[in-house]
Amino acid sequence: MPELPEVETVLQGLKANIADKTKVEKIIIRFPKLRWDIPEQDLNNNIIDQKILNISRRGKYLLFKFKTGTMLIHLGMSGVLKLQPLSNGKISEPLKHDHVDIILNNNSFLRLNDPRRFGALLWAKGDVFQYKLLHHLGPEPLSSDFNFEYLKNKLNNKNIGIKKFIMDSKNVVGAGNIYAQESLFLSKIHPEKLAKNLSDFEIKDLIKNIKLILKKAIKAGGTTLKDYKNSEGKPGYFQQELLVYGRANQKCVICENILKELKIAGRTTVYCSNCQNDDKNSSCKKSIKSI
Ligand code: ZN
Repeated sequence: MPELPEVETVLQGLKANIADKTKVEKIIIRFPKLRWDIPEQDLNNNIIDQKILNISRRGKYLLFKFKTGTMLIHLGMSGVLKLQPLSNGKISEPLKHDHVDIILNNNSFLRLNDPRRFGALLWAKGDVFQYKLLHHLGPEPLSSDFNFEYLKNKLNNKNIGIKKFIMDSKNVVGAGNIYAQESLFLSKIHPEKLAKNLSDFEIKDLIKNIKLILKKAIKAGGTTLKDYKNSEGKPGYFQQELLVYGRANQKCVICENILKELKIAGRTTVYCSNCQNDDKNSSCKKSIKSI
């Protein structure tokens, strides 16, 4: 599933190539329903012959700003958005699951492929940040809004496990299953520790590690993108660097205990019961920072 780092990588590529210099000539919708109906009329009325003023991201939504509103694209579980060249002014033959093409005036087109159709292509009038799918989202993890004061306040009295808490996009966006597991391991926090019981030190450490792990993944984004569409369910995400994700029953890289797994909100979660516990006498003395 494309996570925030993959979407950020797509964004950077698109921004460099088409933002603020390219107009849309035509949109071809072959399959009108992804997760929601594609608002064909709105798109035809608002983006044809219009310049893409800016492209940005909020959570995992790509936001294409036009004069009268914003086109939103979400890649869902399996979506791929690619900028491709026209050949003799023509698009290449669409393959199965190539649901939408957006033809641009610079001899290229955007193609949205989404086999599982959990993605979205939507239109928002006016202020996109007030749009129904965006207005409730928590802060961007790499922004200064995601800081100690914010998280401490949010965690106050929360009787839910910390992993579930950070994976809820109302609290912070982008801490998907992989990144939540990795950042909790780096912070030596048990994934089921109650949110309200985190110490100030743990809160600071967790914020630092969520930012660190996402930045690393974004940096690795180029190679990631190539991988994730080819491999079913198995992420290509800087995989060799993952410390707990997908490593159940293997040795902890710190203490060599066998990593355990549990299900949290239906998602497999791998952790080290030795490193990620509150027992001050834990034999896990070696600093994770040294890895
Ligand atoms: Zn360990």
